[in-house]
Amino acid sequence: MEKVTCMEESFVHCPKLEHFAFKRLEKLLVICKEWEELKIKERELKMKLELKVELVDLKLHKEWEEIKCKREACEMHLHAEFEDFRMKAEFVGHAINPIVKIKSGFLKFKMHFEEEKEYYEKLVECQKPKFLIFSCCNSRVDPFKILNLELGEAIVVRNVGNLIAEYGEEGSCPSNHAAIEYAVKELQILVIGHNNCDAIQSLIKVQHEQKSHFSEHFKNWVKIAEHTCEQVKELHSSKNLDEQCTLCEKECVNLSMHNVLTYPFAKEAVAARKISVRAGYYDMRKCSFDRWSLDTIDGEGETYH
Ligand SMILES: [Zn+2]
Repeated sequence: MEKVTCMEESFVHCPKLEHFAFKRLEKLLVICKEWEELKIKERELKMKLELKVELVDLKLHKEWEEIKCKREACEMHLHAEFEDFRMKAEFVGHAINPIVKIKSGFLKFKMHFEEEKEYYEKLVECQKPKFLIFSCCNSRVDPFKILNLELGEAIVVRNVGNLIAEYGEEGSCPSNHAAIEYAVKELQILVIGHNNCDAIQSLIKVQHEQKSHFSEHFKNWVKIAEHTCEQVKELHSSKNLDEQCTLCEKECVNLSMHNVLTYPFAKEAVAARKISVRAGYYDMRKCSFDRWSLDTIDGEGETYH
């Protein structure tokens, strides 16, 4: 909670910087518009050329080539401007108005959307995700980023500590319940834990520090993992604190996987081999990803470096 407050405070109001950012954004929008127009024109000419496939129209072909070159040059210009803007934005850090960050972020996404227009147009009609992913809401752990997923490929439920409460237990979360019920139709379930997890570590470190910075509401939620962490500490009391934290983070992923199976509809689907429940652990320091599962469906677990 303390970290969030610090971040908000660091968005210092600075009219000069905001002016700079908005000016750069205006420039980006102009290039983006030009790029879109060239893209439309290029597409139209291509269609005309395809209709005249038997009869090569040299004039039309030349016009198409020219537009294509212009569009490519414009695209390179746009990428360079984006990169320059990004570097300057990083330089001034959080001093830039968050609205500018949202606008430029969406603009960047729109470029990707245009490049993959066919895919996104199909996605409007229906979604066919393959995974239901439970992960921590920590800002450094985004499953779409670390697993290079595209929009439409996964349903992601994020909460503090990637925790799933036992079926019917106090502390169980209705959104988790609804997501699991939806997933059993055909989705593969993946629970992802990570290192430096503030939520899990709060259960271990608080006993060392004898005080907690977290609210009662927070503590009530992470209670789901309390017993698991206590067991790990007891079993591995000779290990240092960092090692205990890693073991707890991994064991809490196992706990969530086991808790998925307490949901009757999930248990049935797993028994019928319609779905599987897998685990992952992302180490942001080493940039590695451990994968394992509760059964032998995928063979032994492994680590991707
Ligand atoms: Zn976490």
